[in-house]
Amino acid sequence: MADVVAVEDYADRRELFDIHTADQFLRFVPRIREISGCGIGEAKATYLHLAGAGRKCHRCSTPLGLGEIVDCSKCESLNLVWE
Ligand SMILES: [Zn+2]
Repeated sequence: MADVVAVEDYADRRELFDIHTADQFLRFVPRIREISGCGIGEAKATYLHLAGAGRKCHRCSTPLGLGEIVDCSKCESLNLVWE
């Protein structure tokens, strides 16, 4: 699995999070690459690891603990929390 991308700017995160929430993978990948200059592998990995709205695990929907990079307590998936 490629590394995930660290997007530091709050407005950029918000924009990408909204695209993710809308399930717009084909918009997300070019946009995060434009913002961060990352490769396509990193863009995809970031999309896959972004937590859902309400700080829920991207894989099993379990509510996540505090922090921006969190391992799910149930399924142990890595989650990026951008809200
Ligand atoms: Zn989980």
